[in-house]
Amino acid sequence: MAATWYPIIDESKCVNCNACADFCTHGVYTKGDSAPKVSSPDNCVEFCRGCSKICPTEAISYFGDH
Ligand code: SF4
Ligand code: SF4
Repeated sequence: MAATWYPIIDESKCVNCNACADFCTHGVYTKGDSAPKVSSPDNCVEFCRGCSKICPTEAISYFGDH
């Protein structure tokens, strides 16, 4: 779907709460040891900002967001 739009996690801000991974229903993330991994960026829905809205530390930005 959207290879031009996908989340980027700033691992210096991420507290690995997994809220983003639990929230996203498109399988974009897999859980990781220090932060979720953006393992399937092509599954991300263009202009969806759902995961950044629920991130408690504002660690998520988007490739393709200008
Ligand atoms: S922007 Fe939407 S579709 Fe993309 S990873 Fe976040 S919640 Fe999932
Ligand atoms: S919601 Fe934010 S702080 Fe929590 S795991 Fe995702 S990027 Fe990290």
